[in-house]
Amino acid sequence: MSAHSIDGKALAEELRASFKARVAALAARGHRPGLAVLLVGEDPASQVYVRNKVAACEAAGIFSQKLVYPADVEQGVVLAKIGELNADPHIHGILVQLPLPRHVDEKAVLEAIAPQKDVDGFHAENVGALAQGQPRFIPCTPYGVMKMFEANGVDLTGKDAVIIGRSNIVGKPMALLLINAGATVTVCHSKTRDLAAHTRRADILVAAVGKPRFVTADMVKPGAVVIDVGINRLPPEEGGKLCGDVDFAAVREVASLITPVPGGVGPMTITMLLANTIEAAEREAGQ
Ligand code: NAD
Repeated sequence: MSAHSIDGKALAEELRASFKARVAALAARGHRPGLAVLLVGEDPASQVYVRNKVAACEAAGIFSQKLVYPADVEQGVVLAKIGELNADPHIHGILVQLPLPRHVDEKAVLEAIAPQKDVDGFHAENVGALAQGQPRFIPCTPYGVMKMFEANGVDLTGKDAVIIGRSNIVGKPMALLLINAGATVTVCHSKTRDLAAHTRRADILVAAVGKPRFVTADMVKPGAVVIDVGINRLPPEEGGKLCGDVDFAAVREVASLITPVPGGVGPMTITMLLANTIEAAEREAGQ
């Protein structure tokens, strides 16, 4: 039997509709939520992500400021702008689009953001709070995945969860969230021996690798919940379309629940960025 495909777009729309009242309540008290997005360089994928984030803010009634810098900008210029934004009462969330050019120290930039405005949840203080099980901001992609579990009644308690990928953006925070939710978590990565032996045990399998159709049907336990975080562009000879890390057509015949690409985790990521920005504004307004 084919797995049920989780419609991330529909869930994202439902959540965004529920944000409207919160934004209106804030605006009525003179606290329109505001997000600043900094983009350094001309990476085409980053440009698309930033454009989508700004458009989503506009649709949600959130004020947004897009700040674009050339690839060779001096790090000090970016840090000075972040300092200004930290002090700007109209800005509740600050996001620096990653990756940054090599000469810019990513850690220094992320640590310059005031933790109360770090809506991506990448500041060390916020990573620590998440590790302690008391998050201030949950990183948007794994946060969106947790919302998908919740909306689909996936009980995580005692489940074997396997994550492929250990990045600071996806894999590691995903692991912390699943541990906090009562799952038994294994994090696999490029140095893992016999990956399939791990994935075949997984009740919950999260793929965040960045390799098209990396997870094949023989790697998946029958009835597993499979979350595909990957966003990969296929080469022109294969149609140039977006595709995930999971071989969707084959894996859906084995899994019980699966997320498609596009239309799965992607729309949820931006939605949770809006959620974090609204939450930051509500905290600032004392709500
Ligand atoms: P990353 O490159 O930082 O991390 C990839 C991880 O995969 C690494 O930890 C690496 O060890 C692991 N890996 C690589 N080869 C492997 C192998 N052969 N076996 C096991 N593990 C292996 O990437 P990331 O930032 O975590 O992103 C992962 C994917 O998710 C990318 O396709 C990215 O575009 C996508 N992504 C999507 C969203 C979204 O909103 N849907 C958000 C962030 C990232």
